Amino acid sequence: MFTRRNGLKCTLALAATAAAARPGLFSPAHAAAEPVFKVPPLGYGFDALEPYVDTATMTIHHDRHHGAYVAALNGLVEKYPGLATTAPVALLTDLATVPEAVRGPVRNNLGGHWNHSFFWELMTPGGAKEPSGELKTAIDSAFGSPAKLIEKVNAAGLGHFGSGWAWLIVDKLGKLDIVSTPNQDTPLEQGAQRVVLGVDVWEHAYYLKYQNKRADYLAAWWNTVNWDRAAANFAKAPV
Ligand code: MN
Repeated sequence: MFTRRNGLKCTLALAATAAAARPGLFSPAHAAAEPVFKVPPLGYGFDALEPYVDTATMTIHHDRHHGAYVAALNGLVEKYPGLATTAPVALLTDLATVPEAVRGPVRNNLGGHWNHSFFWELMTPGGAKEPSGELKTAIDSAFGSPAKLIEKVNAAGLGHFGSGWAWLIVDKLGKLDIVSTPNQDTPLEQGAQRVVLGVDVWEHAYYLKYQNKRADYLAAWWNTVNWDRAAANFAKAPV
């Protein structure tokens, strides 16, 4: 006899069979699987950029702020599997390829992940303290001198209202240019061929030490720049 209770039992039995037929789907091995996105470890200690960037800011910025973008991305992979199989640079360069339903969260969280991964590598306690070689030549030609470049990037960072970033890029015509982006937008979607350097001007990047004094943070931040990395970014093949 078919009763509602029997029908429910039957449904549950079918569900169990379906689960058994797909090993791993509900197994502990699946639950413990490696997340697709991870916050990359810093190549230096959280205190290594003192006194310019303080230890508490570095720790919270890296582990919690970047961590939150990464956690959100791993949640988005379930809704949009293409996130796990397409290069982040390709998605960020052409966000129109991302389904509209998840485009906003992908822009914010993949952008945040890309921007911050770039930023951690751009800073170092050691390394060259000023540009040299081809990058220096290009900076002199475009801006007059490294000091002028720094002035202009600082102006872009200071002039940016609210949260965002200031960047030195190689634009789509192959010329050095300074741009700013809001939120976690990347210069990739503006058509940057290469991203040479960038500075995070969200308050979370400086507020604990510098409070509202973004100009003081920007002035100090240049002491952390890894000019060897900037030169390598400049020498890369276009994206
Ligand atoms: Mn940040």
